[in-house]
Amino acid sequence: PLVLGIESTCDETGFALVRGRELLVDVTASSMDEHARFGGIVPEVASRAHLEAFVPTLTEALARAGLELGDVDAVAVASGPGLVGSLTVGTAGAKALAVALGVPLYGVNHVVGHAAVDELVDGPFPERLLALVVSGGHSSLLLVNDIATDVVELGQTLDDAAGEAFDKVGRLLGLPYPGGPHVDRLAREGDPDAIPFPRGLSKGRELQRHPYDFSFSGLKTAVARYLEAHEDSGEPYSRADVAASFSEAVADVLVTKTLRAARLHEVGTVVIGGGFSANSRLRELAAERFAEAGIELRIPPIRYCTDNGAMIAALGSALVRAGVAPSPLDLAVDSQMPLSLTSVPASV
Ligand code: ATP
Ligand code: MG
Ligand code: FE
Repeated sequence: PLVLGIESTCDETGFALVRGRELLVDVTASSMDEHARFGGIVPEVASRAHLEAFVPTLTEALARAGLELGDVDAVAVASGPGLVGSLTVGTAGAKALAVALGVPLYGVNHVVGHAAVDELVDGPFPERLLALVVSGGHSSLLLVNDIATDVVELGQTLDDAAGEAFDKVGRLLGLPYPGGPHVDRLAREGDPDAIPFPRGLSKGRELQRHPYDFSFSGLKTAVARYLEAHEDSGEPYSRADVAASFSEAVADVLVTKTLRAARLHEVGTVVIGGGFSANSRLRELAAERFAEAGIELRIPPIRYCTDNGAMIAALGSALVRAGVAPSPLDLAVDSQMPLSLTSVPASV
């Protein structure tokens, strides 16, 4: 069956067509540039951009694949988690398409989609794996028993997501928005061991209570204090060392906790997804430590790690394969959709 995937949870409007595990086309429009001057995403602006991009992006995807709407056998849309206004535009459009075409509709989980997309690149998933989904909005560790039906959230961030923490530190360092890639670049020139920044939830009782949760706001505060103290005293410091030591702390916590979970759950494969997987120190450290531990590491190319339609079509296709019942046509968006819900269940 040919599955149309629609992504509109945040600031990307994405359409993709997947047959089985084969990606036929993937087209993404982004309103990112419109938000840059505000230093963050403006929900109203994002919703309007989805509305404007919906039909042109869909039309372009079909044209590039040489297919017609009538060829589509199922529609999958990310119905959560995300921004309510953005979700509403994509989900309304998906419903209209499903009704007009007379095909089933699947409301799917955006974060689970970030893991599912890897099947299109690296082939079928093994029986069990861990997925670390890290982006501007999420830092979650998932135990994937079956990508279509059985995903367990082991942990998540209690405050800032990894990308969000990088963006905030970017601002502290006077770098342009979004700061993540700039901090990453600056970090390459610094010493990762120069400053012992804290590793949140990594010791003692905190670790026991939150074995797989993340917390990056204390780390961000530590960076702010370090910079303030040095500005006040006039003592010289290296911005590159700050960026490198901060990056090291984030990557270390993410990789260490994922590795612990892999050992405990006896998992031989880890997938990393989400836009923060572009981070060079995370990639290096994960490659190094997982190789040592004999664990297979799968990271899709970066265009499939940022928000896109392929991840939604991939999960939709997995649901169809697993014979999961479609979602109801009056499906509601869920900005807080729990990660244990891979898709919105059929109404009874
Ligand atoms: P979500 O996917 O949760 O809706 P989003 O759209 O903000 O959120 P992505 O586009 O997946 O997330 O990822 C962007 C985030 O990743 C931003 O916070 C950005 O600064 C960060 N980021 C991107 N590249 C890097 C990098 N090389 N190093 C550090 N952070 C990065
Ligand atoms: Mg985005
Ligand atoms: Fe995302």
